[in-house]
Order: sequence, then structure tokens, then C-alpha cells
Amino acid sequence: MDTILFLAQTEEDGTLGKPALEALGAAVELNQALSGTLAAALYGAKVQPAADAIANCGASRFLAVAGEDFASARYATDAAACEALLRAAQATLVITAATSRSSRVMAGVTHRVGGCVDTHVSAIAADSSSVTLTRWFYRQRIEASLTRTQRPWVLLLDPGAHTAWQGQGASGPVTLELITVPVTESMKRTAARGTITPPADQQTIRPDAKLLFVAGAGWTKKQKDGQTHVPEAETLIVDFLHKSKASLGSSKSLVELTGENQSALRFMSHLNQVGQTGATPRHPKGLSTCCHGEEPHTVGWRFIGERRAINLDPNCGWARGKADVLYVADAFEVMSKVNALLGS
Ligand SMILES: Cc1cc2nc3c(=O)[nH]c(=O)nc-3n(C[C@H](O)[C@H](O)[C@H](O)COP(=O)(O)OP(=O)(O)OC[C@H]3O[C@@H](n4cnc5c(N)ncnc54)[C@H](O)[C@@H]3O)c2cc1C
Repeated sequence: MDTILFLAQTEEDGTLGKPALEALGAAVELNQALSGTLAAALYGAKVQPAADAIANCGASRFLAVAGEDFASARYATDAAACEALLRAAQATLVITAATSRSSRVMAGVTHRVGGCVDTHVSAIAADSSSVTLTRWFYRQRIEASLTRTQRPWVLLLDPGAHTAWQGQGASGPVTLELITVPVTESMKRTAARGTITPPADQQTIRPDAKLLFVAGAGWTKKQKDGQTHVPEAETLIVDFLHKSKASLGSSKSLVELTGENQSALRFMSHLNQVGQTGATPRHPKGLSTCCHGEEPHTVGWRFIGERRAINLDPNCGWARGKADVLYVADAFEVMSKVNALLGS
């Protein structure tokens, strides 16, 4: 019988983030399909709030490594905590969210316990005897299903690929099996000195937004009066993001203009880039503006549900099966009208 381990790091307040709850949702489903045994393993500065919140997930054991040494991401301590938890659980299948923190350590941890690991998992299916995972290769152009016999098998589930577990918390504190992990001075050579984040209204990448708003290089090009209108473009885009709470994406051309210090949008960085060499975000809807819709860009739209684009060119890439709706129009005019409607 399989033992399925749900593994997660806790947030600063001791709770679980959304990606972790999604991984738990997948672990609970997998456990039901395999009629296995479910265990939960948590690590972080505080773990009790997370354990209490998932008390009714069906786990028969709640293992934990807790303490200030495990508060922030650090390879040596995170890997030691995860290794201890995997050894204690003796699981055959381990499911964890593919956060940047766990992605950094799980390959090494899996090697230490003699298992195998798969990253960027987008779905996990099982019948009573076998487990099959799905993941994408070659920038989301090839979808593969694979299965393995080696155990333990560690699966890093991509955020946004599964619905989050939603269940009742405990009425009283859950009993934790606390595991002591010795932390030597050499393991603490790396120290987190603090976190620097832009203010919330300048944070343009919003993975949970309903809409992805993409800006292309057209916003910085000469318009019908023969002039560029970059300050106006900035105002229109910032105003729209403020009102709609959309996430901001960009084409490669636009972020590169910004990097070269040309007259471009100041709030744009390479992190906003969507596409073959950029990100593949997940949002229910997308609106592309002043972007041509070339294949290396639109491949990053793989997981965008309904797609719309605004372009002056009726023969742009979006018109060739890349978008559900193409508005052949001036994005400056359309977005100022949209902003006016949102403001009223
Ligand atoms: C190996 C490789 C990897 C790449 N990876 C990526 C990637 O990850 N992401 C990516 O984006 N690109 C990528 N590219 C580049 C990609 O092929 C395109 O060059 C890029 O996406 C073009 O950006 P753009 O559409 O913003 O600019 P442009 O091609 O310059 O298009 C600007 C568009 O704006 C329109 N426009 C101008 N003014 C207005 C207006 N007022 N209203 C409406 N529309 C207007 C124009 O009609 C035009 O269609 C890659 C290329 C290669 C070779």
C-alpha cells in the first residue's frame, strides 16, 4: 500500500500558502484513488496553525520540523528538514508545491533518500495500481504523461494546476510528531537579512488576477501623428492596472527597450515577459495590446483561457487563430475609453 506524503513549508505566520493547499488537494485525491495512507509534513518557524487548519484532510500523521532556523529559505537547513521528514514518513509518493523555495532543495533531498523527482508537474492521475503524472516540455509545446517504478517518487506540482484543498480546521490543537534536526554553524552561513518588495500598488505581477494585460512594443512606437506617446501610454496602462487589478505581462521587444534605457515603460522588467523565453502565466482571461502576437510570444499564452487582442493591423498574429477576439483598433483610444468606463 502506498504512503502519500504531503510536504510543505509554512508562511511567516505559520499558515499554508495557496500553492501548498493546491498540493494538498492533489495529495488527498491521489490518496483516495490509491486507497493509501496519507501523512502531512510541515517545516518552518511556526507549524501549529498550518497543522490545525488541515486537521481534517485525512492525514494519519502530522510530522513537523519547527524553529527559527527553518524560518526562511536556505538550502542547508531546508534540505536537512525535508530529508528528516521524508525519512520519518517512509513515504512512497511525496507531493509538494513547486514554489521557488521547494524547487531549490527537492532534487538534492530526493537524491539523499535514493528516490527520483519530477518537477513542473501539471496533473497527477491514478488508478488502484499505477500513478501517471503530466508535465510540459519545450516551453509548453509538448505534453508528456509519465510513470515511474522507483520509490520514493517526489512530485513538485506547479502552482495553479490543481484546486486548493478546502476543509474545516480542527477544534483543538493537532498532535504533531516533532522531529529534531541538528543545525550546525556551517549550515547557517547563509542568513536572510530582510525582504525588499515593491509597494502593493507597484507590484504588477499578480498570479491570482482574473485578467492578464499584456503590453507590446507598439505602445512606444510612432503613432498616426508621427510622434511617440510614451508618457500617455504609461498613464493609460497604470490607470487600467489600478482599476482592473489585472496582472501585467509584456512582449520581449518591450522589456528589451526598457532594458536598453530607451524611451519605454518604467514599471516594466524582464520578469513581466511572457513567452518562449519568458513566463507562462495562468489566468482565466487575457488582453493583448500593441503586441503583434508572434509565436515565440503567444506560446506563453498556453494557459490563458479567453484571449482578446487590440491591434491596428488586421493581419497581425492574433488574427491567425491566436486570439478569440481581435479588435482592429487603436489601443490608445480603446484603453482610454475602457478606463473611463471603469472609472464611472
Ligand atoms: C528564440 C526566440 C525567443 C523569443 N522569446 C520571446 C518571448 O519569450 N516573448 C516575446 O514576447 N517574444 C519573444 N521573441 C520575440 C518575438 O518573436 C517578437 O519579436 C516579439 O514578441 C515582438 O514584440 P511586439 O509584438 O511587442 O513588437 P512588434 O513586433 O514591434 O509589434 C508591435 C505591434 O503593435 C501594433 N501597434 C502599434 N501601435 C498600435 C496602436 N496604437 N494600437 C494597437 N496596436 C498598435 C503594431 O501593429 C504591431 O503589431 C522571441 C524570439 C526568438 C527568436
